[in-house]
Amino acid sequence: MPTLTRQHCLSLDQEDSLAPLRQQFSLPQGVIYLDGNSLGAMPKAALSRAQQVIQAEWGNDLIKSWNTAGWFELPSRLGNLLAPLIGADEGEVVVTDSTSINLFKALAAALQMQAANPATAARKVIITERSNFPTDIYMAEGLTRWLDRGYRLHLVDSAEELDSAINSDTALVMLTHVNYRSGALHDMAAITAHAHRQGALILWDLAHSAGAVPVELNRAKADFAVGCTYKYLNGGPGSQAFIWVPKHHQAAFHHPLSGWWGHAAPFAMQPSFEATPGIRRALCGTQPMVSLAMVESGLQVFAQTTMQAIRAKSLALTDLFIALVESRCASHPLQLATPRMHAQRGSHVSFIHPHAYAVIQALIGRGIIGDYREPGIMRFGFTPLYTQFVDVWDAVEGLRDILDQQDYQPDAARNAVT
Ligand SMILES: *Cc1c(COP(=O)(O)O)cnc(C)c1O
Repeated sequence: MPTLTRQHCLSLDQEDSLAPLRQQFSLPQGVIYLDGNSLGAMPKAALSRAQQVIQAEWGNDLIKSWNTAGWFELPSRLGNLLAPLIGADEGEVVVTDSTSINLFKALAAALQMQAANPATAARKVIITERSNFPTDIYMAEGLTRWLDRGYRLHLVDSAEELDSAINSDTALVMLTHVNYRSGALHDMAAITAHAHRQGALILWDLAHSAGAVPVELNRAKADFAVGCTYKYLNGGPGSQAFIWVPKHHQAAFHHPLSGWWGHAAPFAMQPSFEATPGIRRALCGTQPMVSLAMVESGLQVFAQTTMQAIRAKSLALTDLFIALVESRCASHPLQLATPRMHAQRGSHVSFIHPHAYAVIQALIGRGIIGDYREPGIMRFGFTPLYTQFVDVWDAVEGLRDILDQQDYQPDAARNAVT
């Protein structure tokens, strides 16, 4: 590696083929934004799109817009735009509801598929990781408690334990592809194959993967997937999530939130539910259209590049960040919590520090925005569409200065959102 200097980082930006895409985002002056893994930056196009939806489609065209502006079709149209980013086919993805709600639907449908098959009906265990994002665990707890049919959650503590835990009692494996805390990346194809050999189904949460790392759902033969659009996909705060059900599972996919948008003929107003044949059966009810429309502006930026180009830059950014923190902050008690191996790393990097929360607050005070996660973790997201190599340099210099000067308040009160 050449000597790491700010000049070297500037030259990396000059050679970077993705650099022009940064112009398509609205980023405040003087801010280094390393939290696009939690809330993606605003595509400039979102502002004019919002104006169009609110003023023309809502204000002027009123209810006609369900047809004339394509509102009713929007969940599936956006799903088809998103599909190539996750290795899905047309007609397999809808953008709707939240990740938590979509987890509920996929969990319920998966358990029902297993229960309906005499060969797997006795399986009662759902396997996930203790380190999974809490809502994934909570939704599974809520569903199984409510079903009251003897299902239980098995929380594993390591990848090795995961392998042996998946067995003939396993109904479903539910994993998050890139861990929200450590940034560790699972081998989707290998774990999916292992789960299938054991007769289990598998549900992947792509919250920190979609738009961050290449995902090949169909090639891996995964069963179900869900994920966020407000993180790496830049859909806007609280923008709707996605759910993927491959074609071969769609006919058997029945979830209990059987609202009218999932009906075969929603405007026939029939007194009983009949699921529509395709992926739209994963829908429930009317969507917040202003928010949903914003998702397209984020996806339009992805349409101008490839996940391979994004991955190459993401690894270069995270490699650089790790190397700089470890060389320039070497005298401080920082411990890398993210795998060094490329094959095991997503697009964010976490360091453990005894005063992690206070240090993150001090960084934010200087316009360098990362976030804090329990326990004691500073998390930095790298979003190749708009993060520059020089940002990495400047962020590490800010961190080094804060640590050298002890310019942070260890006893600072916590905000509601950390
Ligand atoms: C961010 C995230 C969620 C968020 O779920 P919401 O329903 O959008 O609040 C879920 N799962 C994982 C793994 C996440 O990282």
